[in-house]
Amino acid sequence: MEFIIRPEQRVTARHYDVVVAGGGTGGVFAAVAAARGGARVAIIEQKGYVGGIAAEGGCGIHSFFNLGRAFGVEKRKVVRGIPAEFINRLFAAGGCSGHNDTLLNFGYDDDSLCVDVEAYKFVALDMLREAGIHVLLNTFVADVLCDGDVVRGVITESHEGCQAVMGKIFIDSTGFGDLCARAGANYTEPNDHAVANSMGVGNIDIDKYYESMRDMNGLFEYARGPRSGRDNQIIRVSGIFSKDPAVHQALKDLGMAVVTTTIHDNYFMFIKINFQMPLPPTNRDALADAEYELRRRQRGALALLRQYVPGAEKAFIARTSPSISIRRGRCIECDYDITNDEITDGRHFPDEVFSYGFHDLAPRVQIKNGGTYGLPYRALIVKNRANVFAVGMMITSDFAAHMSTRNTVSCMAMGQAAGTAAALCVASNTAGVRQLPYTTLYKALKQGGVWFDAEVPYEEHR
Ligand SMILES: Cc1cc2nc3c(=O)[nH]c(=O)nc-3n(C[C@H](O)[C@H](O)[C@H](O)COP(=O)(O)OP(=O)(O)OC[C@H]3O[C@@H](n4cnc5c(N)ncnc54)[C@H](O)[C@@H]3O)c2cc1C
Repeated sequence: MEFIIRPEQRVTARHYDVVVAGGGTGGVFAAVAAARGGARVAIIEQKGYVGGIAAEGGCGIHSFFNLGRAFGVEKRKVVRGIPAEFINRLFAAGGCSGHNDTLLNFGYDDDSLCVDVEAYKFVALDMLREAGIHVLLNTFVADVLCDGDVVRGVITESHEGCQAVMGKIFIDSTGFGDLCARAGANYTEPNDHAVANSMGVGNIDIDKYYESMRDMNGLFEYARGPRSGRDNQIIRVSGIFSKDPAVHQALKDLGMAVVTTTIHDNYFMFIKINFQMPLPPTNRDALADAEYELRRRQRGALALLRQYVPGAEKAFIARTSPSISIRRGRCIECDYDITNDEITDGRHFPDEVFSYGFHDLAPRVQIKNGGTYGLPYRALIVKNRANVFAVGMMITSDFAAHMSTRNTVSCMAMGQAAGTAAALCVASNTAGVRQLPYTTLYKALKQGGVWFDAEVPYEEHR
């Protein structure tokens, strides 16, 4: 490998209170919360839209609720605040189905919330602009300026060239933990999940898809809700569409998941194709190979649908994600690393920032008695850094625990928590994020609509 020395460069610098790196699932909520808390906020997103994986294909945004019905307990909404407000706005804009009960097999997933990914991108951007946030789109966080354990700024690249974005508090919500890694935080790259590209398929009849599964006793779960202006329509289906073992093998070889959602007639909003990379996805060339491989597999999946699904004979790929989606890239070391035992025990913490009640390994792995657990503030604070939060899929190292914390709604709630804390730190001129009194944060989160299911009484937070 040949090396060169990059020459020093004089670049323009802009100053903000809070800088959010990555305008994805968690980042949007971090920025909105920080701005509503009175901070001057910049959010930096490499793509031309915001929303991240939630707007690219992880569009079964189901986990606002506990997994109650499997235990015969009440289905309760436990994530509220800005994420719930966003979903209400999306619904009002015709961009989602609202909350609907999952039918047949609800042990895994109590709630079906189907999202139009294009509407998601617009409504999220609208919310950021409305909050007065400087939204830097098509801008990549390429480097970090540190002073000991304090991050002072990030170096960005865009068509305008190289620029510095300076701040007081930084929130890394890049999914990959790019800011943290460049700031010298400790991290691992477990490469323990498949990468995916999710496609939208047009010209395909969801009722026939549902009926063919139902008629061959292959239906696993489904949901009914609003679709193309009519209520009580099929909006989510999962199951097998052929009993032929050769088709099963073909699905397996393609890494194709046969669950889909929609809010439009004749359109499957997302069909996921998965591929286990041999090297971690931070390896650029291995990633390029994976991008190709996933697109090759998508062609194969389309051929299978056309051949075996009644009403899909003329289906076509209407949308793909612009690049791979990932369930985790880097795992960033934070002050606290929640374990799966704590999650399944339904543990609540004296510094928790929201309650959560979903587990992706359900029904096999569940939170005790259909309850909830709390995510501690410490779990968002990047170890050995004074002023950096990590938000989203990068925070939990335990594979099984991560299968809960990485879910869309959890990432959104982490965003609100970190953004609220960041604004409070700025307002009180706190030396570092660890110095913020928890009671101040708790009150602000409550004011922001966050629901605490806590068995930990408020007095104990003092
Ligand atoms: C295929 C797939 C399906 C899933 N399905 C579901 C599901 O049905 N339900 C569910 O609840 N969860 C699902 N998940 C999990 C969930 O969607 C993710 O864990 C969650 O959305 C991650 O949010 P995040 O904010 O951490 O990252 P992201 O949403 O990926 O946001 C990161 C953002 O940062 C940007 N970015 C990255 N690096 C830089 C940089 N250097 N500079 C500037 N910008 C940068 C990215 O472009 C992106 O917008 C799924 C995940 C995958 C991969």
